[in-house]
Amino acid sequence: MTDVTQRSARRTAADTEPMVLAFDVVVTAVQDLTANFRRITFGGACLEAFGVAGDTLDLRIKIVIPTAGRACPDIAGMMRGSAASSWYQLWLGMDAEERGSMRTYTVRESRCTGPQPEIDVDFVMHLDGDGRGGPASEWAAAAQPGDRVCIIGPNSSAAQCTTAGAYGGIEWSPGLAQHVLLAGDETAVPAISAILEALPADMSGHAILEVPDGQDVQPIRTRSAVTITWLARGQRPHGELLEAAVRNAIRVPGWVSLSGRGAASGGSEPEEVDIDRAILWETPQLLETAIVQSGVNPGRPPGTQPFYAWIAGEAAVVRGLRRYLVRDVGVDRKQVAFMGYWRKGRAELS
Ligand SMILES: Cc1cc2nc3c(=O)[nH]c(=O)nc-3n(C[C@H](O)[C@H](O)[C@H](O)COP(=O)(O)OP(=O)(O)OC[C@H]3O[C@@H](n4cnc5c(N)ncnc54)[C@H](O)[C@@H]3O)c2cc1C
Repeated sequence: MTDVTQRSARRTAADTEPMVLAFDVVVTAVQDLTANFRRITFGGACLEAFGVAGDTLDLRIKIVIPTAGRACPDIAGMMRGSAASSWYQLWLGMDAEERGSMRTYTVRESRCTGPQPEIDVDFVMHLDGDGRGGPASEWAAAAQPGDRVCIIGPNSSAAQCTTAGAYGGIEWSPGLAQHVLLAGDETAVPAISAILEALPADMSGHAILEVPDGQDVQPIRTRSAVTITWLARGQRPHGELLEAAVRNAIRVPGWVSLSGRGAASGGSEPEEVDIDRAILWETPQLLETAIVQSGVNPGRPPGTQPFYAWIAGEAAVVRGLRRYLVRDVGVDRKQVAFMGYWRKGRAELS
């Protein structure tokens, strides 16, 4: 029996509503990890039901941030008392003041099996000199034990959450690849760290993390042979160091697709994405779906590539890396997950 099935078996119907993906949680601890990262630990009995089977990897959650001075909306309670099947429609239907703001974060670590279930989320503190930023970073800057938010995430009792693939909130999917590239800015540090911690010993490759400052470097444990490179941005433009390091790493022989295409032959131009209007999000799973829907056979079974890349961060930087890998190097798009985690100058669309 897996962790999650044991937990499900222990629970009685009164303990949890199986299909409710909303968790009302309380801040139990706040820890400044580095100058720009703040770890917030969320607890609550309801978290006993939180999670998917297996490692959390890059598991994403939504956090509903209450409007300043107002209580967090009780989405879980509303769902129990409503015929609505979608928490999102319920939330959107609320008065704007009452519903607050919704932002996406990664579960850095989940400890939901013990008597006091908890999850950690690492917030990047992107505040200006006056302490102003988006609702999530402002909330995190002021967070104290006892504060409440609502988290939207997988409920282990729900059929759609039994595996990471079924839930759909985990993108890391290297298939049979044993050589990987993980690249991201500070917002991807929690996901890359959790992925590295879960990798097996026979996985090799590079993890490249660009952070604002040298003091933002954090210890990461991994059994894998993946080499970890931290890049301190300082006053340089966002992504400049990351892009150079990826270009360097991808030139190493053997870092291209099974098709044998290298930098000399290149690949095709990926479709342009207007990152100010659309979300830059292209993952092998989405491509598989598009291929099945279009009826075009890619001629290669999924998950058989030896190389896999996972790239996340500011959308313009990710778009540049996508173009380099797919068009210039010729890496098969089905071997790469590209995710624009945020867009400079734009609040997250919720
Ligand atoms: C799947 C996924 C997982 C994520 N995981 C994490 C995580 O674990 N930790 C984390 O900190 N972030 C994470 N992010 C990024 C986070 O959702 C965004 O940074 C979000 O915009 C922060 O919300 P906000 O309310 O603070 O700012 P918003 O209201 O969304 O934006 C306000 C302003 O701040 C700017 N801004 C937003 N983020 C940053 C930033 N990081 N640096 C500089 N300026 C910024 C925007 O461009 C905008 O101008 C993740 C995003 C996704 C999609």
